[in-house]
Amino acid sequence: MAWVLSEFKSRQVHFDFKIGIGKSVQIVRRFSVSPLHIQMEKNCIFCKIASGEIPATKVHEDDKLLAFMDIAPANVGHTLIIPKKHHEILTDIPDDLLKGITLLTKKIARAILSALGAEGFNVIMNNKEVAGQVVPHAHIHIIPRYRGDGQQLHISPNPRAKTSVDETAEKIKKFL
Ligand code: AMP
Ligand code: ZN
Repeated sequence: MAWVLSEFKSRQVHFDFKIGIGKSVQIVRRFSVSPLHIQMEKNCIFCKIASGEIPATKVHEDDKLLAFMDIAPANVGHTLIIPKKHHEILTDIPDDLLKGITLLTKKIARAILSALGAEGFNVIMNNKEVAGQVVPHAHIHIIPRYRGDGQQLHISPNPRAKTSVDETAEKIKKFL
């Protein structure tokens, strides 16, 4: 009778409590865990920051989330917020975790406004390479804005996208 490590698959470790001898061994209880280090994506730089394998200048850390300074800031105070667990893009993140990320974004944005004298900030999330995502581990950018900072973060209208707006809306609504 013992707990034995029986399987290690899909980034989960299964421990089985087995009773019996020889061929009559039965699994009576299964216990599965997904430790953080097993949820790391190989070669993901943000997973390595989350596990402490590579350094970062952190402003917040808890068991699920991390916020740290961008290594190539677009402005003074440019901060990144990540879930410690590897998820590639926004739509992969479970709702509870996303709630936590959103609240932390608000908290850090407030701190940036108070601490750095920023007059505003942009919250940006690039999802997939086509949208400019370079690090494929979901992250939110908070970019403080200072009057006359020269940053060009404007969204420019595309006249070709203006056609059939109603039809486009109907298509989206079908999937909601
Ligand atoms: P994105 O284009 O949305 O994937 O942005 C990735 C961001 O991660 C960029 O702004 C980089 O400057 C930043 N970055 C990359 N490596 C590091 C690192 N080791 N520490 C902090 N920020 C990083
Ligand atoms: Zn990762």
